[in-house]
Amino acid sequence: MEAIEFIAPKTVADAVAALAAKGDRARMLAGGTDVLVQLRSGRRRAELLIDAKSVPELNQMSYSPRQGLTLGAAVPCYRVYQDQKIAAAYPGLIDAASLIGSIQIQGRASIGGNLCNSAPSGDSIPAIIVLGGVCTVAGPGGKTREIPAEQFCTGPGRNVLQPGELLVSIHFPAPQANSGATYQRFIPRNEMDIAVAGVGASVVLDRTKRNFVSARISLASVAPIPVFAQKAAASLAGKPVSDATIEEAARLAMEDAKPITDMRGTIRQRIHLVGVLTRRTLQESIKRARGE
Ligand SMILES: Cc1cc2nc3c(=O)[nH]c(=O)nc-3n(C[C@H](O)[C@H](O)[C@H](O)COP(=O)(O)OP(=O)(O)OC[C@H]3O[C@@H](n4cnc5c(N)ncnc54)[C@H](O)[C@@H]3O)c2cc1C
Repeated sequence: MEAIEFIAPKTVADAVAALAAKGDRARMLAGGTDVLVQLRSGRRRAELLIDAKSVPELNQMSYSPRQGLTLGAAVPCYRVYQDQKIAAAYPGLIDAASLIGSIQIQGRASIGGNLCNSAPSGDSIPAIIVLGGVCTVAGPGGKTREIPAEQFCTGPGRNVLQPGELLVSIHFPAPQANSGATYQRFIPRNEMDIAVAGVGASVVLDRTKRNFVSARISLASVAPIPVFAQKAAASLAGKPVSDATIEEAARLAMEDAKPITDMRGTIRQRIHLVGVLTRRTLQESIKRARGE
């Protein structure tokens, strides 16, 4: 590992200015649980690391039942799941935040860093997508733009951020009445592994809690980017909650999976897992929506 300059700016504008000045020779550092590993192994190079945790706006976490949740890009996972109101409102996000790495990793690792690392296996990304997360990005000249989470990742380790841009926060709309969300993954051991496949699902039920109003489904580790399985989710809208409708959504989600075979799993196993996990996450989301 080479000597790397480190700065701890106090404002988004200063962080953006430093990023813009160094171009691709600078990187943001949130928890460092991805970027430091990548720098050490030579998979990435940087001359400058910019501390995201020193910028107050990147550490904000505000929730209200009306406004929803604004999660600063550098907020570590443990702060998310230790907040009881947030945990009650967004159990699908907590599913992901509490399985990233280990307790030690969760003490540093952020949801924002997980998204910006843009790995197809990033466990929080399907949860962010199914919860309707919208990313606020700041860039040079004081410009900001908003990007729906499902449009953020563009390839393995790549995303829509342009030179000089950083992720400020992710906004999650307030949970609707009779809604629930879940994230689950398959790994061959209990923790500290990369998902062979992962699925996030969210549902909104009608007042009788017997019919779907809408749903969202997103898949991890089965394509070059996290998949927003729109056809599968749309198949549930307006339909009764039943084994048949859930089965059809699982079948369509399997069609959206375009995995590869690698050391973690085969194409066949991953597609099979998408079916199993889609059924399970839909069923769990329905239970949560019903308050069961
Ligand atoms: C032992 C171990 C176990 C792990 N287990 C899991 C797991 O189970 N599931 C999983 O998904 N991941 C896992 N990871 C990977 C990693 O912990 C997560 O991806 C984590 O959420 C990254 O967050 P971070 O804050 O540490 O990001 P960092 O490493 O600080 O940053 C990640 C990337 O995002 C960029 N970045 C950070 N913040 C910003 C910003 N505000 N704007 C623009 N770019 C930014 C950085 O430059 C870097 O490229 C594991 C890692 C380790 C070391």
